[in-house]
Amino acid sequence: MNRNRRTLSLTLIATFVLMALLVVYTTRLMYTSSSSYLLELGNDKAAAITADLENYLDTAKSVLWVTADTVDHMLANGATDAEIVEYITRESANTGAQFDDTYTGIYGVIKGNYVDGVGWTPPPGYDPTARDWYQTAIAARGEPVIASPYVDAQTGKVIISVVKSLSDKHSVLGLDLTLSGIQETVQNISLDGNGYGFLVNYDGFVIAHHNPDESGKKYNEEPDKTELFNKVIGIDKGNFNMEIDGKKCTVFVNEVLDQWHLVIVIESTALLGDTTSVLVVSVLISMLVFGLISLFYVFAHNHERKITRRMDDLKELEHKKDYEAKLLKLEKAAADSANKAKSDFLADMSHEIRTPINAVLGMNEMILRESKEEQTLEYASNIKSAGNTLLSIINDILDFSKIEDGKMSLVKVEFDVAEWVSGLVNSIQERARAKGLELKIDVDETVPSKLYGDDVRLTQVVVNLLTNAVKYTEKGSVTLRIRNTEINGDDVSLRFDVIDTGIGIKNQDMDKLFMTFERIEEKRNRNIEGTGLGLSIVNKLLTMMDSKLDVSSRYGVGSSFSFSVVLKIVDAEPIGNYEERRKQLILHSQTVEEHLYAPKARVLIVDDNDMNLKVATNFMKLFGIKADTCSSGKETLDVLKSNKYDIIFLDHMMPVLDGIETLKLAKDKDLIKDTVVIALTANAVVGAKEQYLNSGFSGYLSKPIVVKDIEKTLKKYLPEDLIEEAPLDTDASKTTSSLTIDKAREAGLNTDAGVEYSCGEEDLYLDLLSDYAKDCEEKCKELDSYLDKEDMKNYSILIHSLKSSSRIIGADVVSALAKDLEDASKKNDMDFVQINHDNFLESYKALAAKLLG
Ligand code: ADP
Repeated sequence: MNRNRRTLSLTLIATFVLMALLVVYTTRLMYTSSSSYLLELGNDKAAAITADLENYLDTAKSVLWVTADTVDHMLANGATDAEIVEYITRESANTGAQFDDTYTGIYGVIKGNYVDGVGWTPPPGYDPTARDWYQTAIAARGEPVIASPYVDAQTGKVIISVVKSLSDKHSVLGLDLTLSGIQETVQNISLDGNGYGFLVNYDGFVIAHHNPDESGKKYNEEPDKTELFNKVIGIDKGNFNMEIDGKKCTVFVNEVLDQWHLVIVIESTALLGDTTSVLVVSVLISMLVFGLISLFYVFAHNHERKITRRMDDLKELEHKKDYEAKLLKLEKAAADSANKAKSDFLADMSHEIRTPINAVLGMNEMILRESKEEQTLEYASNIKSAGNTLLSIINDILDFSKIEDGKMSLVKVEFDVAEWVSGLVNSIQERARAKGLELKIDVDETVPSKLYGDDVRLTQVVVNLLTNAVKYTEKGSVTLRIRNTEINGDDVSLRFDVIDTGIGIKNQDMDKLFMTFERIEEKRNRNIEGTGLGLSIVNKLLTMMDSKLDVSSRYGVGSSFSFSVVLKIVDAEPIGNYEERRKQLILHSQTVEEHLYAPKARVLIVDDNDMNLKVATNFMKLFGIKADTCSSGKETLDVLKSNKYDIIFLDHMMPVLDGIETLKLAKDKDLIKDTVVIALTANAVVGAKEQYLNSGFSGYLSKPIVVKDIEKTLKKYLPEDLIEEAPLDTDASKTTSSLTIDKAREAGLNTDAGVEYSCGEEDLYLDLLSDYAKDCEEKCKELDSYLDKEDMKNYSILIHSLKSSSRIIGADVVSALAKDLEDASKKNDMDFVQINHDNFLESYKALAAKLLG
C-alpha cells in the first residue's frame, strides 16, 4: 500500500517537472520566436525608412547634380551672377514640387558670393564659406554629399543639406531638405502597437524621433541617453536589453545608409505581452493537464488500490479458504486419526477382553460341571448368561470398529438361497420358541435358487433384525419375508422385510434408531439385552451393499424393518415353495452320494460329553469313517501314544486338561506330527478362529456341529488318496432301528428339541435315541454298582452324563430326575440318592423299553 502511494507521488512529481519544463520550453520558444519576429519587424521598418530616405536623397542629389552641371557650364560660358541666380531661382521653383512644403530651394556660394534660389538674404556678417555645409561640399570634391543635420531655427525641424562643389572647387551648390517624411515614418514606428523608434547619426544627433521633441537632440551629450547611444553605435545591427527610464526594454538597431542608426525601443513587458499570456495560458493549461493527469492518476491509483484491495481480499479469501481447507484437512486427519484410535482401541479392547472372558466362561463351565453347591451353580449359570451377552456385545463392538476402520470388506461367494434361509431360521427359531412367538417365513417362490453375494454379512443383517424383532416382541409373531422385486439380466433385486407385532417405536424416537450406542426407551427395555449397536452395524453393512434400512413402526402395534439388495444370479431356477425346498435339502444332504467317502481315514474325536461324541461319530458314519473317541485330555494323550490319526477333532472346554492344553502337551511330547487338529468349540464368536490358530489348531468348528462343516473340513484336510468313490448302495447314516419320531413323541419325549439338537437331522436323532435306549441297561448297572460302593464321585459323573444325554434327546423328565441325583451326589447326600435312585432307574428303563419296544 505504502509502496503504491510512493509510486504515485513520484509519478506525479515527475509529471509536474515534465510539465514545468514543457511550459518553460514553450515560453522560451514563444519568446524567442516572438523576439525574432519583432526583430524582423524592426528590420523591415528600418529597411523601409532607408529606402524612403535613399529615394528622397537621390532625388535631391540628382536635382543638385543637374543644377551644378548647368551652373558649371554657365560659369564656363561667362554667365553673370544675376543670370546664375535667376537660373537657380527658376530651378528651385521647378523642382520644389519634388520635395515637401518645407523645401527651401537651391542655394550656394558662387565665386565667393552667397546665392539663394528663393531670395533669402543672409544676415550681415554671414559667411557662407564658414558653414558646415560649404566645408563638407568642398571636402567631398565634386561628389554630392549630405552635410550634418541641424535644427531649423524657424521651423524647429531637423534639416539636412545635400551639397556639391562645382568645377572651380570654390563654388558650392546645395539644397536643404526637412525630414518631415522620415519623421512621419519614424513616428509611426511601433511593434504591434508597442514601443517607439528614432533615427540617430554617428554624432548622436537625433534625426527623427517618435517624440518630435526629441528630434535634434544630441544623445551623446544627454547623460541619460549616452549609454543607449553607445550601445546602439556598438552593435550596428541587432538587439540588446537595457533599462531605459527605469523600465526593462529591448532595443533593436539597424544601420541606415552607413550614416544613421534606426533604433526601435520596446518595453520587455510589452514584448513579452504575448509571451506572458502564452506563459499564463500554457501554465493554466499545464495546470489543467497536470490536474487532469493527477486526477487520472489518483483515480487510477484509487482504482488500482481498490482492485489491489479486492485482489488482496480475494487472496485473503483464497488464503482463508486455503487455510480453512487445510484446517479442515487437519481436522479431518485429526478426526480420522481420533476415529482410527477409537476404532483401534475398540478393536484391541474387544479382542483383549474376549480372551479373559473366554477364560472366565471356561472356568465357569468347570464350576458348572464340578460344583455341588446349588447357590454356586445358580451364580455360575448367571455368569454364563451374562458372559455370553458380554461376548456378543464385544463381538458387535469389534464388528463395528472393523466397519468404521474400513477393515471390513464384502466377501462374495455363491450360496444356496434355501440353505441360507434355513440357516437364518435355525439361528432364531429357538429364541422365538422360547418366547412363545410364531416365526413365519415367507419366501417368494420366484427367488432364484442360487445367488452370488456376501452371505455371511447378509446373514448378520437379517439375524440382527430378527433378533431385535424377537427381543422387542412379547406376543404374536415375527415374520421374515423375502420378495423378488426385479430381475434385471444377471441381477436380482431382493426385498427383505422383518415384521413383528412387538412394542413398536415412537415417531420421535425414529431418529435415534441408527445412532451408535443409542437405545430407545431405556427404562422400558432395561431388561432386554442390547448395546444400541446392532442397527448401526446393520445400517453400515447395508451401506456397504449399496442399500439402506427402511423402518416403519406403530407404537404398541409393531414394526417393520426392510431393505433391498441386488445380488448376482448363479442359478436362475426359482426356489419354489421354501418349506418343501428346505425338507428336500435335508433329505438331499442325507443321501450318501452327496457325501464324501473316506473309510480309510483315521479320525479321533475328543469331547467330555458322551452325547456330543455320539453325534460326532454318527456324522462320521455318513462319510464311511469309523472314528475313535476320547472323553478327556489325559485319555487323548494316552491314545496318541499308540495311534496315528489323520484328523483329530478336539473339544476346547474339558475338565482338567482343556483342548488347548492337551494340544500343547501332545505337541511337546511329539505325539502328533502330520496330524491336523481341529478345535471343536461352543465359542463361535468372531476372533475365536484366530485364538485357535494361534494355539496350534489347524481350524475350528463351532458346536452344535453341522454335517456340512465336518464334510468341508474333511475335504480340506484329508489326504486325497484317502477319499474314495462312495459305493452307491452305502447308506451308512440310515438307522436300522424301528424307532420313529412319532414313537418317541408317544414315549413322552420333546422330539422338537431333540431333532434340533441333531441339526434337524431326524435320522441322527433316532440313532441317538436308539443308542440311549440300548445303553440303558449297562448304565443302570454301572450306577447301581457305584451306589453299592458308595462311590459318589463316579456316581455323580455318570448321573451328570445321563442328565445331559436325556436332555439332548428331549427326555426332560428323566433329565430332571438325573439332575436332582447329580446335585445330591455332589453334595454327598446319600439319603436323597438312596431314596430317589430307584425312581430314576425305573423312569429311564421305562423310557428305554418304550423306545425299543
Ligand atoms: P439394541 O442392542 O439396543 O437392540 P439396536 O441398534 O439393535 O440396539 O436397536 C436400537 C434400538 O432400536 C433398540 O434399543 C430398540 O429400542 C429399538 N428397536 C430395534 N428394533 C426394534 C423392534 N423390532 N421393535 C421395537 N424397537 C426396536
